This record gives sequence, structure tokens and C-alpha cells, in this order.
Amino acid sequence: MSSPAPRPAAPPFSRASVVIVGAGPAGLTVANVLRAAGVDCVVLEAESREFIERRPRAGFVEEWAVRALGRHGLAERLLERAHTQGEFEFRFDGGRHPVRTARLSGRRHFVYPQPLLVGDLLAAYADRAGGAVHFGVRDVRLHDIDGPHPAVSFGDPVTGARHRIACDHIVGADGARGVSRAAIPEGRVRTTRHDHGVAWLAVLAEAPPSADGVVFGIHPRGFGAHMARSAHVTRYYLEVPAGDGVADWPDERVWSELHLRLAADGARPLREGPLSEKTVLAMHNYVVEPMTYGRLHLAGDAAHLLAPIAAKGMNLAINDALLLGDALIAHYKGDDRGLAGYSAASLRRVWQYLEFSQWLSEVLHGASSGDRFRAGTAAARLRRLLGSEAAAKAFAGLYLGEEADL
Ligand SMILES: Cc1cc2nc3c(=O)[nH]c(=O)nc-3n(C[C@H](O)[C@H](O)[C@H](O)COP(=O)(O)OP(=O)(O)OC[C@H]3O[C@@H](n4cnc5c(N)ncnc54)[C@H](O)[C@@H]3O)c2cc1C
Repeated sequence: MSSPAPRPAAPPFSRASVVIVGAGPAGLTVANVLRAAGVDCVVLEAESREFIERRPRAGFVEEWAVRALGRHGLAERLLERAHTQGEFEFRFDGGRHPVRTARLSGRRHFVYPQPLLVGDLLAAYADRAGGAVHFGVRDVRLHDIDGPHPAVSFGDPVTGARHRIACDHIVGADGARGVSRAAIPEGRVRTTRHDHGVAWLAVLAEAPPSADGVVFGIHPRGFGAHMARSAHVTRYYLEVPAGDGVADWPDERVWSELHLRLAADGARPLREGPLSEKTVLAMHNYVVEPMTYGRLHLAGDAAHLLAPIAAKGMNLAINDALLLGDALIAHYKGDDRGLAGYSAASLRRVWQYLEFSQWLSEVLHGASSGDRFRAGTAAARLRRLLGSEAAAKAFAGLYLGEEADL
């Protein structure tokens, strides 16, 4: 999907307290929080509004994140339109094994497509609160981030003219492929990487869900998953060999593998439909530590990428944005403790989620790893999770993101 031609941008400010690079869930949440507190900010986004309001990605929002957005008045439409899920199912060896996460944790997942949340956050910030945002900006550059007077410059998408905005702080919320992280000089932060060694083919099917909730199919041929997105759209994932491309997976092959890997006695047959999106995702993670360098504060995927194994990335982006928004507001009231502690506070949850993703990755990929040790330990984890109430409760707490600030 490519971005349509951008509209002419309004004349840019030459100064703002905070410049936010990226209008994803992280950037837009910070922008809303700052705007509501009267801290002036400008958002710079490389794509058009139409594009970011359609870009499909996440769907699962944890209950604590919904409640936190709600406290800032940002969850009204989500609460009206999202449906909630309180259980999911493992399928393996032809059997169905439900895990009742709501009963175990007292919490639920909200199913709300990311483009809808981005649309809500944009409407709240730009349309209702009159916040400044420039879409389609070109060649964004960060300047003097280690001094007291940083700035961000960018090319106007229509005139080509370069603009420069001086500021006090920059929020780098431009995702995994943005420019903010790369603006930090070599060796000043540590980036830790981990590769799960597999890839997932992510598809969106124009077809109603074939089960009430999430289904994780564990199969010697590879992992497969089903996730309801709406009454008419279902997301599916298939584990594929690292290095495979979309061309290796024509629609018939996708459906035939999904039928095989998600089969179980008594399960409804999958309802097929046209595949509207097909992407191969490398299952890898990275973490940047610390997340602040000088006057640049990274947030969301710019700071830490989590393979979507446990559906955590957008939840972390929201957590960062809320922490950073509060810290910046406190800064303008003369209290810098929040900014000083921002990175450590965020990273506590990031590492908890990474550990959980790693654990779940072994459960989902062990059977197909071709390694008897990994297959055996993955099966032991599953037996413990399905056979012990205490283990299931601990799992559900992590799956729903409770007590993750430890
Ligand atoms: C298939 C898939 C499924 C997922 N499912 C889930 C899920 O169920 N739950 C969950 O929590 N997470 C999920 N995730 C992860 C989630 O989508 C991301 O973690 C989330 O988008 C991160 O938000 P962000 O605001 O940090 O970054 P992004 O959403 O990537 O936003 C960054 C923004 O910056 C813009 N940008 C980039 N470069 C520049 C630049 N140079 N200048 C200006 N702007 C720029 C981009 O266009 C973009 O709008 C999933 C991801 C994928 C790929």
C-alpha cells in the first residue's frame, strides 16, 4: 500500500516546546496528553493522514491500557466499538484446549484495529483540540539533541522548502524504521537484539471469524493462528521459514496450511475469503537502553521492537507515551524526576513483556523446531499451563499485562 499524494501543509511553527516525530499510537498519545495539559507541541508524520488511518497492524489492546487511555478521555470510541475477549484456545494433536484468561486474571483484551485507534487519537488531537500536525513531511533531521536547544527540520511535501522547528525536547516516536534512533551517535546507547529464527506470514482475510476468540495452532509443520478482528475480517498467522517471501505463499497454499494447522476435533471449519493483506514478518526484537539521549526521548517501536508473538508492541507504545507525557508535563512545572526515570520505568515493562514473548515463542514454535529438546520442553510448558491452576493464573496475568512493572 503506498501513500497517496500529501495535501499542502499549513505554515509550520518555528518553535514549539516539544516536537513529536511520528503519528503512530505512541506519538499521538503523547501529543494528546501534552495538548490537554497546555504544553505546546507539533507532530511530524512522514505519511498522509489517509494512509495512517488505514494501515493495518495491531488489534489487541490490554485492559490496563484501555483504562489508562480512558483516564485521559481517549478511549470513548474504543469502549463503544471494541469487543472484548476473555479466553483463547490452544489446538494441538487434534484437540482443543481453552485458557480462560478473564476468569484467571479478572481482565480482558479489547479487540480494536490499530488504524481505528490512530484515527481516534488524531481526531482528538488535531480536530477537537486543534493540535498541530504536518503530514507527508520529507527527510526529517534531528539537530543538537545533546544540547539545551535541539531542533527538528524537514522538507515540505508540496513546496520542497525546508523548515526548522526549535524546541526544548524531541519525542522520537517514528517506529522501527524512523530516523530518531539513528540520530543518536554511535556508542551512546546500547541496542540489544534477539532473533527467534522464524518468520510469520501475516494475512488479513475478508472473512468472518471461525472461532469466538484467538486460536493458537501448535503443529509439527509450524505454528498457525486465528484472531478475530471484526465481524467481517479475520487475521491469520502462519509460521514460515525465515527468508520466505510473499510470493512463496499463494492464497491456496495459505488456506491449505491454515486448515491443517488449526484443525481439531469439534472445531468449526475455517471460513475462507479474499486475502486483503499478506506480509512476511521476521520474528525479531530489539531494545535501546537508555531510551533518552540528551533532549531526545524515544517511545514505542523506535525504542523497542517486539515480534508480535504476544501482541504487546502497541501496548508498550501506549505505556511509554503515558509515562513520557506525564514526565514532560511535570518538567514544565519544574519537576524533572519523571524525565530522569522515564527510561528505567518503561524498560521494566519492556523486559517483562520480552521475557513473556520469549516464553510464548518457545511454546508456539518448539513443536516445529526440528529440535527434540525444544519440542519436549515446549510440550512440558503446555502441560503445566493447562494442568495447573497456579501456572495458568501466572500466564494469564502476563498475557493481559498485569503486574508487568516489576
Ligand atoms: C502484523 C502486526 C500485528 C500486530 N499486532 C499487535 C497487537 O495485537 N497488539 C499490540 O500491542 N501490538 C501489535 N503489533 C505491534 C504494533 O503494531 C506496534 O508496536 C505499534 O505500531 C507501535 O506504535 P508506535 O507509535 O511506536 O510506532 P508506529 O505505529 O510504527 O508509528 C510510527 C509513525 O512514525 C512515522 N514515521 C516513520 N518514519 C518517520 C520519519 N522519518 N518522519 C516522520 N514520521 C515517520 C510512521 O509513518 C508512523 O506513522 C503488531 C504489529 C504487526 C506488524
